[in-house]
Amino acid sequence: MEPQSNPHLHSDIQPPEIHRIWQCLHQIADPELPALSITDLGMIRAVTPLQNGWQVTLTPTYSGCPATEYLIETIQETLAQAGFSAVHIDVSLSPAWTTDWINADARQRLRGSGIAPPQGLVCEKTANIEPIACPYCGSHATEKISEFGSTACKALYRCRDCLEPFDYFKCI
Ligand SMILES: [Zn+2]
Repeated sequence: MEPQSNPHLHSDIQPPEIHRIWQCLHQIADPELPALSITDLGMIRAVTPLQNGWQVTLTPTYSGCPATEYLIETIQETLAQAGFSAVHIDVSLSPAWTTDWINADARQRLRGSGIAPPQGLVCEKTANIEPIACPYCGSHATEKISEFGSTACKALYRCRDCLEPFDYFKCI
């Protein structure tokens, strides 16, 4: 499945503040995946002007993640520092966030930080699942060690070629 493109890359958005807000949001790292920003993960669904401020629509990666409160505060602090004070964060849980929203560039950086990116919902739910590629050496000779890695969102794998353990970001 093709990862959804980042809406802020389409630069014909008006008014110009919207673009600046997207740029600020792009600086906010995900607390669980510091290699990625919240816009890389596709968590920001929309930035819209209100009569007296701005609305940021946020879809958290996992409804159970304690990171949501932290993210709301961080978004408000970051935008306040950039001069956007009246910011309303709209938490949108439907449609639910999916790993398919992670953009292609972010998948590369996940690999660079030693985490195998999610393959996509379709392949994970079919029986003939592609073997997960090792993010270090690219080998497909990998095995799952544990359903849960460093966080519940990841599974722990090991590469049989380079023998490195690595996290696989599970599809949801
Ligand atoms: Zn390897």
